[in-house]
Amino acid sequence: MSSPDKIRELVQSHCRDIPDFPKPGVMFKDITPLLADSYSFGQVVEYLSDFLERVGCELVVGIEARGFILAAPAAFQAGLGFVPLRKPGKLPGVTLRESYALEYGEASLEMHEDAIHPGTRVVIMDDVLATGGTAAAAADLLERAGAKVIGMSFLIELGFMGGRAKLPGRDIDCLWTV
Ligand code: AMP
Repeated sequence: MSSPDKIRELVQSHCRDIPDFPKPGVMFKDITPLLADSYSFGQVVEYLSDFLERVGCELVVGIEARGFILAAPAAFQAGLGFVPLRKPGKLPGVTLRESYALEYGEASLEMHEDAIHPGTRVVIMDDVLATGGTAAAAADLLERAGAKVIGMSFLIELGFMGGRAKLPGRDIDCLWTV
């Protein structure tokens, strides 16, 4: 695996900014060119799995949808299982749900109520940390299910959006802070 600085450079050079997506005023961080480059994607997966091993993670949680793309291979690489947090109505079994406020309106995340044994050390993964609302809701949901949220891992942090303020006391790892 390359150094974190080199992997950060790969992320910076393979992500692109798409203005006004999905709505006016939002600068969207598009990771699809990164995913399409096998070397860069592989280095990122190694970096993420290294974090999982360092913090003693037992089970990896990905947030729909782009969180899945990063969390599942990182979990595999680290020899760990993967649990999806999904948008409402997607999971077939009995679910727990957490709703949270968006800039306009509300969103929800669901997980299978029996997905995690109480006390399991989990890490939450997603591509981008912006306002922190999604990650905070994910942590609340997992803790309601009895999980121990020992860390959160993001590829990109939009520092100017102040997401960390919603995640006090959390061990947060972001490869690239904008
Ligand atoms: P937030 O709850 O505000 O931290 O938003 C985080 C979620 O929205 C993550 O699942 C991201 O994938 C997505 N997201 C928010 N802002 C952006 C952005 N500027 N570019 C790409 N994804 C974003």
